[in-house]
Amino acid sequence: MKNVLIAKHPATGETIDQWLETEIQHVPEMYEKASAAFKFWSSRSLETRLTFIKKMKQYLLDNMDEIVEEICSATGKVRTEALTADLMPVIDILQHYEKRAPKVLKRKRISTPLLFVGKSSYVDYFPLGTVLIISPWNYPFQLSMTPVISALIAGNSVILKPSEVTPTIGLLIEKIAREINLPKNVIQVAHGGKELGQELVSGTPDGIFFTGSVETGRKIGIEASKRFIPYTLELGGKDPMIVFEDAPLKRAVHGAVWGAFTNAGQVCMSVERVYVQSSVHGEFIDRLVEETKKLKIGEDVGSLTFQQQKEIIKDHVLDAIDKGALLLTGKHPDKWGESMYIEPMILTNITEDMKIVREETFGPVMPVIAFTTEEEAIQKANSTEFGLNASVWTKDSTKANRVTSRLVTGNAVINDVLISVANPHLPFGGVKSSGTGRYHGDEGLYTFSRQMSVMKDPGIKQKEINWYPYQNKYKKVRTLIRAYFSNNKQKAALLRSFYKQLLKK
Ligand code: NAD
Repeated sequence: MKNVLIAKHPATGETIDQWLETEIQHVPEMYEKASAAFKFWSSRSLETRLTFIKKMKQYLLDNMDEIVEEICSATGKVRTEALTADLMPVIDILQHYEKRAPKVLKRKRISTPLLFVGKSSYVDYFPLGTVLIISPWNYPFQLSMTPVISALIAGNSVILKPSEVTPTIGLLIEKIAREINLPKNVIQVAHGGKELGQELVSGTPDGIFFTGSVETGRKIGIEASKRFIPYTLELGGKDPMIVFEDAPLKRAVHGAVWGAFTNAGQVCMSVERVYVQSSVHGEFIDRLVEETKKLKIGEDVGSLTFQQQKEIIKDHVLDAIDKGALLLTGKHPDKWGESMYIEPMILTNITEDMKIVREETFGPVMPVIAFTTEEEAIQKANSTEFGLNASVWTKDSTKANRVTSRLVTGNAVINDVLISVANPHLPFGGVKSSGTGRYHGDEGLYTFSRQMSVMKDPGIKQKEINWYPYQNKYKKVRTLIRAYFSNNKQKAALLRSFYKQLLKK
């Protein structure tokens, strides 16, 4: 019997929608349909595919308010954040790739060394086939749509499994595909949870793009590696913010408050650890507390989206308090009650053994830690298993570059937070346990492409010098290598004469 999926507003508990779950036994049929759709879609020109991208952008622009409402009721986000951080980045990437994709995906001419005189080289890009995209609940629209769009432009068909925590977003994406008349089965949405995700991974994808937790990412990476299926993993973070005494302090305070509490802290690149130089630590904390107390729940800070995440946040905060941390803003977890709205918390008196410094909290929590030297700040920033994003705050540009270059992270920002992800020209992705592979930028199309390197000969010469027979060739080739790899200005002339001699034989 089919399971009924019921979507509820995370903060009010009100039922938003209900429909049928995708049955696990339906997975092979989905891949068959995706494979047929791939044949059709990949045979269309890039220009034709981009007409759908234009239509999609127009549809999103025409229906902004409705889409924002859908995102808000699925997640409990505030409207401004649904608009700026979930919907707008999708419109932006559509526009970016509409212009950029023809340059990125066209044949790339590659130079051919003189040694291979007469030949030419190039790289061609082909779609992978059917790409499986599995997405999380924190930016359910953006984190589904951006890889979907990138995969479609590159010519793939897509099976998308959105998070079961925000399931109405899958319905929304199906609706968008219908509204723009995207050919049937070019995108299929699989509605369901972890078991369905596992079944899809065990199916026959030609590529996997996963955004979610480290734990799930590891399982998917292992499964995909067994069958050499190319995969990209966009995983968790514990992002450090380093504030030096010469930082633009007021700006750093505003940056920290926004970076830690936007989307109620449920951001893979949230500011989750703030390291402040001792000389300005006191002043920084005072200002932080003042600014944080100004935030309005429900207007600036939305609700949490996922009940289980609330338990993790509670566990981290209680662990910190038990080990001596001081809660400067927000409520003690014992006083949170049933509400999914959590007041932003600033904690000080932090020690390295606290979960709040080592594990991803994914909530409105900001531990602030003092440091003395540049070396100490770098060492502390690099001390977790994660490497997604980091920020360095100082007016000294040389120091900013020096420190940033020593951080082991996939992305970094100077005198700002999170924002590198918003530039569609910049590739995005993590290092260490934060993941592998990149999307956004040109890499975002190559991730969904199969590259082929080609070398072409006009086919006029009867044979090549390295072909058989080898008789009497060794010494001549040795001389050729010496001439070729020396700095001899007559190299070209020498090579030509060698080629002639060798080919006479
Ligand atoms: P999650 O790993 O629990 O679930 C993500 C998706 O994977 C869901 O659709 C889920 O149904 C599916 N899934 C779960 N187990 C699976 C399995 N065994 N096989 C296949 N699919 C499976 O993550 P979440 O709680 O939805 O998301 C929060 C996490 O995502 C955080 O760690 C956050 O940092 C990370 N995240 C990373 C980025 C990034 O770009 N690096 C962006 C947003 C969120």
